[in-house]
Amino acid sequence: VNRDYGIVVHGGAGSFTPTSKADIAQRKRILSRAASTGYELLNKGGSSVEAVEEAIKVLEDSAVFNAGSGASLTLEGKVTTDAAIMKGDLSCGCIGCVSISKNPISLARAVMERSDHVLMVGDESLSKFSRAIGLHLSRLQPSPRRLEQYKRNLATMQKGLVKAWPRNYKLLKDYLKNDSFQKTEPVSDTVGAVAVEKNSTVAAGVSTGGRWLKLPGRVGDSSVIGAGIYADDLAGAASATGAGEEIIRVCLSKSVCDLMRIGADAQTACETAVNILTARRGYGIAGVIAVDRFGRFGSARNTEMLQRSFRFKSMKRTLAVVMPKESPPAQRKISPNLTRLNF
Ligand code: ASP
Repeated sequence: VNRDYGIVVHGGAGSFTPTSKADIAQRKRILSRAASTGYELLNKGGSSVEAVEEAIKVLEDSAVFNAGSGASLTLEGKVTTDAAIMKGDLSCGCIGCVSISKNPISLARAVMERSDHVLMVGDESLSKFSRAIGLHLSRLQPSPRRLEQYKRNLATMQKGLVKAWPRNYKLLKDYLKNDSFQKTEPVSDTVGAVAVEKNSTVAAGVSTGGRWLKLPGRVGDSSVIGAGIYADDLAGAASATGAGEEIIRVCLSKSVCDLMRIGADAQTACETAVNILTARRGYGIAGVIAVDRFGRFGSARNTEMLQRSFRFKSMKRTLAVVMPKESPPAQRKISPNLTRLNF
């Protein structure tokens, strides 16, 4: 098989709200920088997990997407992030409900590599763990832009106009009566990455502030293996974005990997898994990116947009796709001999 290698990065799925040409250009620039950073590492012989972590750190640090310094706010106006990382040998690490790290993806990697656990939650436990392993954390400093956004979103919720949270709306009074809105603010769109090395080893990662105005303590798909991400060297790797509650219900990333395992290429697997999601839960919910172990890439959504970028050995340059009508790059034709697949 004539394999390819490279990385796909996403910056969230949702409805398209173009603010300006400059905004679109900035998103493309940052997504491209993230994919190029990951690809350079792969090209130098770096691992797919390193490529995924470094690409996601670029997005977390940008404060433009809903992750790291750009994370969105809870109903009480605070930041709590979720993240996960997984390697094709099935090692994985996840964190949930954490506000003490500006790079949650690195904390998830530390859980994978330095503990015997898969998922750890909460600031107290994660700061103790970080101290024990000598990992220095810098607290998240959300931007003023997020606080503005929080005030607007909260006002919409108070008018009963946030369709996503009908039950939470009834709890609003209890959550808002005491506090004290913190002067903090986070973001817009979750970030993730999937990568495949020259030797076909794969990895996936995801990092998010979660959904706007979530209840404190809510953990989404981005901390859940099989939902937000999945990676298996016998199949490929996938990373999802969108309404986490729905992504968890259909185990979106695991579905994509299962389809690749039985011979679907990455693109077919993404489309099929999203079709299943649409059939069960409707449109406007999620998007997913994937690579298969032969180096083919895929992406699909049932939302208006899925911001993403691609960089593979077979491509001349990194390509970012943000606008609803833009198409992903063409990919090299790779036709593995399916009879040789090892199910
Ligand atoms: N999936 C994320 C969550 O539900 C949100 C997103 O992808 O934008 O926490």
